[in-house]
Amino acid sequence: MFNFIIDLFFPKVCSGCHSVLMTNEMVLCTNCRHEMPLTQYYLDSNNQAVKKFYGKVDVEHASAFLYFNKKGIVQELIHNLKYKGHEEIGTVLGNWYAEDLKELKLENTFDAVIPVPLHPRKFKERGYNQVTTFGKALAESLKIPFDDTVLYRKKYSKTQSKKNLLGRSENIENIFDVYVSEENQNKHFLIVDDVLTTGATLEACSRALLKISGAKISIVCMAMANS
Ligand SMILES: [Zn+2]
Repeated sequence: MFNFIIDLFFPKVCSGCHSVLMTNEMVLCTNCRHEMPLTQYYLDSNNQAVKKFYGKVDVEHASAFLYFNKKGIVQELIHNLKYKGHEEIGTVLGNWYAEDLKELKLENTFDAVIPVPLHPRKFKERGYNQVTTFGKALAESLKIPFDDTVLYRKKYSKTQSKKNLLGRSENIENIFDVYVSEENQNKHFLIVDDVLTTGATLEACSRALLKISGAKISIVCMAMANS
């Protein structure tokens, strides 16, 4: 009854289009679920996400779940996830994508899901890392551990803007490091991030993780620009 009253005054709205959700709808309305621009990259071992890392890092698997189009549903979702505290969006996307990845029978090949870390200062400002719920949902569905302790960020980097695009890979190269321990050796790390753009951040994360002996890298992002 109480929930009903709350819903009456504060109806839950779709994170994609802001229409009021039906009682059987969670986070996204049925319409938005049908409209989601799925890349299907996971089915193609030579997809656009893999190509971002050619000649830079050896990745076992790389894919992005959705196309990121300006002013589309996905931009709205990522915005709500990143700046409006709607962490449940990450859970929905993670659970959804895990079902796709299970088709590849990849679940037994990964040893840990590693989120791209936020700098502690940014974490304090935002209160959460926007990739945590996505990574945890993937980890839980694929039955592998989620580990946000191996990889960490050393320096504060300002929000990346177009202005510093050129100097970015140099800036970013040394901002990540890892805790090397014996139990981290010989592992296949699945790094997760929100939007894949230049790939510079993920490349830097991969390089840091590859300092661990026997490490293998795979990458999964929520979205990637459709270009
Ligand atoms: Zn919607």
